[in-house]
Amino acid sequence: MKPSDPHQELLRRVACAGLCRYYKPNKREDPGCGGVETLKRRPDLAGRLEALPSPNDDALFGLDGDDPRLLAVCEACDFRVDGCDFRDPEVPREDCSPCGGLRAVAGLLSKDPELKL
Ligand code: SF4
Repeated sequence: MKPSDPHQELLRRVACAGLCRYYKPNKREDPGCGGVETLKRRPDLAGRLEALPSPNDDALFGLDGDDPRLLAVCEACDFRVDGCDFRDPEVPREDCSPCGGLRAVAGLLSKDPELKL
């Protein structure tokens, strides 16, 4: 996917800049986290992504962090083993935050529990 891809730019704006506490404007990570990589394959969800709010918290839109659909996203994430506090069993959950990609997935699932990703 080219960096100028409109869907990728939408993901950067909504999931990374809008929802990720780890986002650094000058650092472009490609591949991105498991959530962003999952959503890159779904340009059909662009309208739903645009409609996601950007709550100023670290929550998962009411979903549990151990929701199997979210665990599956993290299972496929390149950052999970060495680079993600949220899925590090050594780090207490209250001391870490999910990334914006996972939060974006959670936001979409909270709006449509039947959504298949
Ligand atoms: S929460 Fe961690 S493991 Fe899950 S998608 Fe984000 S960076 Fe990857």
